[in-house]
Order: sequence, then C-alpha cells, then structure tokens
Amino acid sequence: MYDVVVVGGGIGGLTVAAAVSARGLNTCLLERQSQVGGCVARVEFAGYEFEPGMGLYTSFGAGGVYEKLFSQLPVELPAVSLVTSPYVKRSADGTDIRLSSDDLYSIDGGPASIAERLAQSIKLSGGNVRLDSPVLRLAFDDSNRATGVDLLSGERVPARKAIVSNMTVWDTYGKLIGLNRTTPEIKKHLNTLRGTGVYVVYAALEAAAVARLPGELMCVEDSEGEFTMAISPGSSGPEGKRAVTFTCRTEVETWFAYQSSVEDFEEWDQEALERFWERLHRAMPELGSDIEIIETANPRTYYEQTRRKLGMVMGAEGAAAAAHRTVLPNVFIVGDTVSAAASLDQVVVTAMAVAEEIK
Ligand SMILES: Cc1cc2nc3c(=O)[nH]c(=O)nc-3n(C[C@H](O)[C@H](O)[C@H](O)COP(=O)(O)OP(=O)(O)OC[C@H]3O[C@@H](n4cnc5c(N)ncnc54)[C@H](O)[C@@H]3O)c2cc1C
Repeated sequence: MYDVVVVGGGIGGLTVAAAVSARGLNTCLLERQSQVGGCVARVEFAGYEFEPGMGLYTSFGAGGVYEKLFSQLPVELPAVSLVTSPYVKRSADGTDIRLSSDDLYSIDGGPASIAERLAQSIKLSGGNVRLDSPVLRLAFDDSNRATGVDLLSGERVPARKAIVSNMTVWDTYGKLIGLNRTTPEIKKHLNTLRGTGVYVVYAALEAAAVARLPGELMCVEDSEGEFTMAISPGSSGPEGKRAVTFTCRTEVETWFAYQSSVEDFEEWDQEALERFWERLHRAMPELGSDIEIIETANPRTYYEQTRRKLGMVMGAEGAAAAAHRTVLPNVFIVGDTVSAAASLDQVVVTAMAVAEEIK
C-alpha cells in the first residue's frame, strides 16, 4: 500500500512525487509513456536533439523555485547557465529588438534532464517510478472514497493518503474521476476553460545560417501572429549543423476534424507544413536554403504523446485559483492547467504547494 499515488510523469507529477517521497511518504508514480517528461520529454530525430519547447527557462536564480525544490531532494539540480546572447524580437516590419534578460537560463541536457533528475530523486527516496503504466480510472470503496487507481492492465494500485493527477483538469474529471462524480458547476466551469495547441517544426540549420541570424532564441511577429525559434544549445546535431525548433500556436479542433481518412489528414498536415514553410522564409529570409525540415508536431502528436485533451498544451485560460483541489478530498491536480502560467517554473510552484498540503 502506497501513501501517495501520482498519475503522470510530467514536470508537475514528478515534482510532487519527488517532494513527498523526500519527506518519507511511500510514493508511486505511474507514467503511460516509456520515458518521463511529458511535454518536455526528449525529442530526438535523425541524430539531432531538439529543444522540446521555446527554450525560455526562468527562475533558476538564488532563492528561486528550483533552488527551493532541489534543496529538499537527495539529488542536485542539473547545471544551468544564464543565456548571455540576447533574446531577439522581430516585429512584422522586420525590425529586430535585442532584449537582454538576467532571468533566462539554458539547462544542461535540456528540460528533460530536470524530469530525469526528479525521477532519480523519487527512486533514491525509496519511491517507485513505473513507466509504460497507463492509468484507467480511480478506484473507490463502498463509501465513495478514492482508494487508489486502476491501471489499463487491470492491476489496482492502492493509495492510503492521496492520489495526485498530472492529467489536465479536463482529463482528470473526464477520465480519472468520471463525469458521474463531477458536479454540474464543475462541468460548466470546465466548458468555459480554453486551451490552445501548438504546431512545431523541427529542422536542421547549417552553421552558416546560424551565423547570419541575430540570435539563437527569437520571437518573430508576422501578419499571421507570431512564432518562436529556439536553436538547441551546444552540439545538438551532426558536425556543422544545429537542431532548431520553431513553435507557433494553433487552434486544436481542426486537427481532429480531419479524421474521415488517413489521406485527408496527411493532406491537411502537408498543407500546414507548406504554409508554415512559406511563412518562415518570408519572415526570416536569412535562412535561405540552409535549412532542412526533419519532423513536425501538431495537436494530434501531443495528444498521442501526453493524452492531453485535444492536444491542448498551453495551460487553461481562466483556470480558477485552488483548482488543484478536486471534488474528492484526497485527490489533487498538478500541472499547467492548474498553474498561474504554462511554464515549467509555475508548474513546479503549484506542485510544491500540493506537496505541502499532502505533507
Ligand atoms: C511546444 C511547447 C513549448 C514550451 N516552451 C516552454 C518554455 O520555453 N519554457 C517553459 O517554462 N515552458 C514551456 N512550455 C510549457 C511546459 O513545457 C509545460 O507547461 C509543462 O511541461 C507541462 O507539464 P505538466 O506537468 O502540466 O504535464 P505534461 O507535460 O503534459 O505531463 C503529463 C504526463 O502525464 C502522462 N499521462 C497522461 N495520461 C496518463 C495516464 N492515463 N496514465 C499515466 N500517465 C498519464 C503523460 O504521458 C505525461 O507524461 C512549453 C510547452 C510546449 C508544449
């Protein structure tokens, strides 16, 4: 019998599991994928290691949230260094503004290394990290108290003290708790919450193109909105090439509407890539022909990877304070749909608060 069972090994689930297991609670984290990290899990294709996000990582300074968290754990925070090159904002007319920040960090091994370090911490504290273990739903006793979780395999994993969901608010109620146990008020609230998806292009850049760019982290505005560029630090690919990630927001429904056939979807996906490719070259002419597309990701990819409803990955706009508590007194939610912002540091802040409540 565990004290705490955590469903999901994204940064939120890992943080709460690492914090409570370091305090001596017998903890089991269940992750459906074969690696931890969720949205920040390693992205590797064709010998390149891609930045999984936009490369904007903050709050690693003294007194910051990571220092507070890792000071409680039996592992060290991965090495981080201040990003010294400017963050460049390119406006729609092509003007570049170089912004310097004293709170923008590059993480050795990328953000996945934080996830991996937290998993190591759980194990060192005597906890269990079980990969390839999808959870189906909560288990209840006769008095309607949640007593653990049922895995897709049929196994039941009991929890004496608390169950923590690292699924989104929508999925926690829709799948884990069940809509029959969700009050009409909460159902109404969940319908008012909105999230967005992202369309991501992973590409290889020749060193010559990198040298022509005004910076390695950029936000580019254009007539369609904006997209970001993050070149992975260090040697992220074969000799003379660098891995680069372009990210723009996309609304999610259309990615799921094109399901009438695989061909329909592939056509839709190809068109999206062609549109983005044109957009990219219009806004960043210095890339020239020194760029090669390696892979793309869209809301469907994120759904496959994390099971987040409709592949929505940018938090939940309008999430209420204290949303980390659920209708069940011993069931909590962590993650970016209950955090102040969809960013790693804010997910960690909420998860540490939940760990405090569980003790
Ligand atoms: C493209 C992109 C760029 C970003 N850029 C940045 C950035 O530059 N800086 C920054 O600070 N933040 C960035 N973010 C935000 C940040 O990465 C996320 O907010 C954060 O990683 C989300 O963590 P999470 O704990 O909420 O959940 P997730 O990462 O979604 O993890 C949830 C986990 O639960 C697992 N799971 C789901 N269902 C089950 C089940 N039934 N059983 C078992 N396990 C299950 C999933 O497999 C997953 O591993 C970015 C996000 C994206 C998508």
